[in-house]
Amino acid sequence: MGKNILVFGPNGSGKGTQGAIVQKKFNIPHIESGAIFREHIGGGTELGKKAKAFIDKGDLVPDDITIPMMIARLQKPDCKDGWILDGFPRSKEQAITLAKNLKDAGLALDYVIEIVLDREIAKERIMGRRLCVNDNNHPNHIAFEAIKPVEKDGKIVCRVCGGDLKVRADDQDEDAINKRHGIYYDTKTGTMAAVNYFKEAGGVKVISVDGSVSIGQVTELIMKEL
Ligand code: AMP
Repeated sequence: MGKNILVFGPNGSGKGTQGAIVQKKFNIPHIESGAIFREHIGGGTELGKKAKAFIDKGDLVPDDITIPMMIARLQKPDCKDGWILDGFPRSKEQAITLAKNLKDAGLALDYVIEIVLDREIAKERIMGRRLCVNDNNHPNHIAFEAIKPVEKDGKIVCRVCGGDLKVRADDQDEDAINKRHGIYYDTKTGTMAAVNYFKEAGGVKVISVDGSVSIGQVTELIMKEL
């Protein structure tokens, strides 16, 4: 039986890394809103062109672009046995819309995973991450032994597939990082408000884990509860 899972955590908390692990455990798609936007930008689509300016600055892409894109993604056939959603919802408004859409579709939410991490630590971690050009589910980070990129022919490449690595422009820009964290830690309308919305709504198992420990330890804490 598939699972419908949301994963929350500030940028830099290891959310993507853990999402990739959970994806493997349940064999469900790991759907990352940011990665979908980056694919659109890379492919030069209309949606990508509209989203790019917001993303570069660390602002949220407007709901009239984001919500239909994500709802459409969840309706694809690969989602019928469950999914892990990462990066969406990112505001209370998006959380309410998602909850309504799931209810209308007769779908339940099984788990909410929350990776808790101090804002300063999260900020320090962001700058060291590297993106594999071949697969967004190949996490690499220059400061973490467990997911450190490898060297091949004098070049630093993806530890999983040997592919080229790149940095995200919004990961090297302090203003953009601060804005993204401002949205995350906002308990009124931001992402923390979305987390609290699901906690208060009930009917879903919430797994809150300390994100300051090692990658393996975070995985262990999550797997114990799933
Ligand atoms: P991420 O890869 O999750 O850090 O997302 C990168 C960027 O994509 C964010 O800083 C936003 O500009 C945009 N984005 C991702 N998810 C959402 C969302 N749920 N709502 C609005 N914008 C989003």
